[in-house]
Order: sequence, then structure tokens, then C-alpha cells
Amino acid sequence: MVSKKLAGMIHTALIITTTLLMSCRNNPHDRLVTDDTLNKPPVVKTIPDSISKFAWKPVVYDSNKQYIYLTFDDGPQHGTTAVFDLCRKLGVKASFFMVGEHATDKREKEIVATIRNAYPQSLLCNHSTTHANGHYNFFYHHADSALKDFLLAQQTLRVPYQIIRLPGNSAWVKQGQVKASKLVDPVCLLLDSAGYNIIGWDVEWSFNHKTANPVQTPEKMIAIVDSTMARKHTHTSNHLVILSHDRMFRNPNYTDSLARFIELLKQNPNYVFETVDHYPGLKQAAMQLK
Ligand SMILES: [Zn+2]
Repeated sequence: MVSKKLAGMIHTALIITTTLLMSCRNNPHDRLVTDDTLNKPPVVKTIPDSISKFAWKPVVYDSNKQYIYLTFDDGPQHGTTAVFDLCRKLGVKASFFMVGEHATDKREKEIVATIRNAYPQSLLCNHSTTHANGHYNFFYHHADSALKDFLLAQQTLRVPYQIIRLPGNSAWVKQGQVKASKLVDPVCLLLDSAGYNIIGWDVEWSFNHKTANPVQTPEKMIAIVDSTMARKHTHTSNHLVILSHDRMFRNPNYTDSLARFIELLKQNPNYVFETVDHYPGLKQAAMQLK
């Protein structure tokens, strides 16, 4: 036993020594590196992270599974970091639809960057520049300026995919499909022509408009999700998009409510968490971020 252990230790030591030597040989300042080695091109070509990370990857769906898309709107705002940290901690994917004008100072821009860079765990999406300034009728009746509003947010937030959620309106635009109300139809058609996808929602975890706190309990939300999925009352069967807002979870007791909701979802072995770039039937719309 002892000799085996000793042999193991010697073996480990040899591996460490070899690794160290190899590491040294990779150091261009080390004497072991010859001119010949230096002239050789590097073995691994570095692809800029921003491009490789967001290269479009097709998804193979498991017909035995049901897909849950957690989506959080209106960030960056109070609650965004708490939601992001929680999803990360619980190991679930989530999509954040953000507003250009909410990301003006350094800290807010850093939050956007953190969420963008955490892909594929989290996905940054476009939720306009101005959030329609709260005047939805006026905004959607001026489709050309609404289009410009979304294009500007795409640039300022550096959104990796052409995926939008309309402020205050659930519409769907995918490959070969536009499903929109009369009000938003003109802007949906413009965005469709510009190569964009629009993601609506199947279920909303609503908030009290005075306090911004969640209305439903986590248990109530689970019941709604389960029954909507079971009755196939979703835009796409076996795929369910949940809308909520970052600010609902800014207070620790409501962050706990979100944690409880996610834990309950995770208890269903059929549920798989995905980001909305993996929603079925989207146009392949990865941006080349610079
Ligand atoms: Zn919104």
C-alpha cells in the first residue's frame, strides 16, 4: 500500500515537473525557446470572443421536455443585479430585455455588459431606447420613428442578437410569421423586414403598479405555468415564455419569492430553462459585435 502511494506521489510529481517545464517552454523569454519556435505561427488561432460566443447554434429539442423561458423586462433598474445573481446561483438561464435610456451612467452600463458577457447563462435583448416614453398609442402610430428607436437601442446596448420585445405589447415575429395586433402590426412588419425577431409572452407574473411588488405568490405562479403548459395555451406547444420585471424582485423578501418560484420549477424534471434565442422558429439573427 505504502509503495503504491509513494509511486503515485512520484508520478504526480513527475506530471507537475513536466507541466512546469512545458509551461516554461511556452514562455518566449525562456532560454529553451529557440528562434525556430518563435517563428512558428501560434497553434490556436484566437477568434474574438464577441463573435465566437454569439455564433448561432441550432438547438435540438427533446420531445419529452418542456421549455421554460424566464424573461425580465425594463432593466437595468433596481432589482436587475439581484435577479441576475439569483439565476446564476440557481444555475438557470434567463433573458433580460433592456431599455437603452435606462443604461446611461457607468454602473448601469456595467450591469448591461455583465449580462451580455454572461451568455449563454443570460441573454441580453432589445426592449427599445425610450420604452415608448410610456405613450404606446403615439409610439406605435409612428412606425418609422419606433423602428429607429429599436435600432438605436441595438447599438447603444450592443445587443448580440436581433431579438426584441415591444414595450407594453405582446407580439410575435419569427421566420415567416408575424402575429401582432392592429396597433403594432406596422412596426412589426418593419422590424421583420430588417431581420428582427419579436418575442411576446405566454404568462405574466404581474406587479402592483403602486409598489412594483409581485401580485401572485410563487405557488400561484407555478399553478398558472403548469396549467398553461398542460392545456397547450402557449404560442408554441411545450415552450412557455414567462414575463416579469426586474424591479419586482429588488427587495430581498421578493428576491426570495423569485428563488422559491425557480426552485419549484426546477422540481419538475420535464422543465428545461432556455434563453429566448433558442425559442423555436426564429430568424437566425446573430449580430457581429465589435
Ligand atoms: Zn417594458
